[in-house]
Amino acid sequence: MAYKITGKNIKDDIVEKVEEISGQNVFECYQCGNCSAGCPVVDYMDIAPHQIMRLAQLGATEEILNCETIWICSACLQCSTRCPKGIDVAKVMEAFRTINLRKRLAPLNPDEIAEKDLKELPPIALVGAFRKMTG
Ligand code: SF4
Ligand code: SF4
Repeated sequence: MAYKITGKNIKDDIVEKVEEISGQNVFECYQCGNCSAGCPVVDYMDIAPHQIMRLAQLGATEEILNCETIWICSACLQCSTRCPKGIDVAKVMEAFRTINLRKRLAPLNPDEIAEKDLKELPPIALVGAFRKMTG
């Protein structure tokens, strides 16, 4: 029988917390890439949404908690509507942001955004990221 990666063999407190906060089972993801293909800000992310899902499955949560992607995500829900497995990927992103903020890990600092990034980042990404700092 083929080995199956599930929440039973990947024991990670953060993955469990993400599932508790988001109500989503990250192990349902089969890596089709639809979420990343439809994400309007994927080009500005350091880890694409489908890769976030894979890292979560593997318990590599520190990578996710310290990445820029969760702050670039504008919570537009495009990924959630495109997932053939019905995973609300936007909720998974939100859960990682919530955990990051609770741990106070590298929150977005407006004074540290490079001038070049300010010119190139889509406004929705910045609006979304700052909304998360105040919401
Ligand atoms: S919710 Fe975030 S990850 Fe999903 S498509 Fe929108 S910007 Fe991309
Ligand atoms: S669209 Fe759904 S199943 Fe496909 S990679 Fe993204 S989260 Fe996984």
